Amino acid sequence: MKTADLFREKTVFSFEVFPPKKTIPLESIFLTLGELQELTPDFISVTYSASGNANKEATVAIASKLKNQLKVESVAHLTSIQQSKDDVLVLLKELKENNVENILALLGDPVEGSEPKHDFKQASDLVSFIRQHADFNVIAACYPEGHPKAPDLDTDIRHLKTKVDSGASQLITQLFYDNDLFYTFREKTAKVGINVPIQAGIMPIMSRGQIERIASMGRVTLPPKLLKMIDHYGDHPVAMRDAGIAFAIEQIVDLLAHGVDGIHLYTMNNTYIARRINEAVRSLIRTGSY
Ligand code: FAD
Repeated sequence: MKTADLFREKTVFSFEVFPPKKTIPLESIFLTLGELQELTPDFISVTYSASGNANKEATVAIASKLKNQLKVESVAHLTSIQQSKDDVLVLLKELKENNVENILALLGDPVEGSEPKHDFKQASDLVSFIRQHADFNVIAACYPEGHPKAPDLDTDIRHLKTKVDSGASQLITQLFYDNDLFYTFREKTAKVGINVPIQAGIMPIMSRGQIERIASMGRVTLPPKLLKMIDHYGDHPVAMRDAGIAFAIEQIVDLLAHGVDGIHLYTMNNTYIARRINEAVRSLIRTGSY
């Protein structure tokens, strides 16, 4: 199924996982996938390692396992910065052969010590290339506070409009912690005529180290309430985990009350977190009847 079709009927609730590192067997993630499947997400997306930390084949293999064995709709991420057009054609063929119908088309970030290929300058080039060469539902990334390399949010939204016009039928946001910034972003995208569904990307905070990494990414506002929470619980792992889950639940409840098109949970391959959040918000998610 093409995941863009789901939004007509319901609020979409999905998960993201990442493949194990090269040195770890692929099978190590299978238990995680089985536990996530039990939570009946609308789809699970699988990241693609532009840096080569994970095997390139792992994304296709996991997306295929989800779709064909676990019967969960899957989305394969695909970054283009290190790929030629021929490389992408090979990947498209593999995904087709594995019945994967959805691709999250990304540019990816430059990899240290590795020369980027120049076939795709922006993700919008990849989006239109996929649409021209194969029948996939193409999803794209968006940034409620603007992409870190964009001069400002309005410019980034103009580029996003090009990406949607190139054939993206659904968007997933970068993580964010201030819902008001997401609501402003939603208004701005509507004003420029972006009218595809936008899923809010939510990543629960589990540790002080994680928030430091997020802060270093740039363009992610950390509200005082979140900083206070980390300050207070940061040295107590269990309390920090529970506070992070509570913050994410509060964020999701507010987003659902504001009629968000969908929630995409960055699970970090942690099924405990996914289960706790799923339990807390499931009854609030609009299905066909509610
Ligand atoms: P683009 O849409 O190409 O945007 C990149 C920059 O170029 C932006 O600043 C944009 O404003 C600018 N731009 C776009 N068009 C133009 C134009 N015509 N002229 C000038 N500037 C322009 N990374 C991975 O390596 N693997 C993953 O699996 C992965 N999954 C992700 C999932 C989500 C939901 C998100 C939000 C990000 C993900 N990323 C992943 C990170 C992503 O690859 C990086 O954020 C990357 O820097 C940008 O990718 P993009 O597809 O958004 O690029």
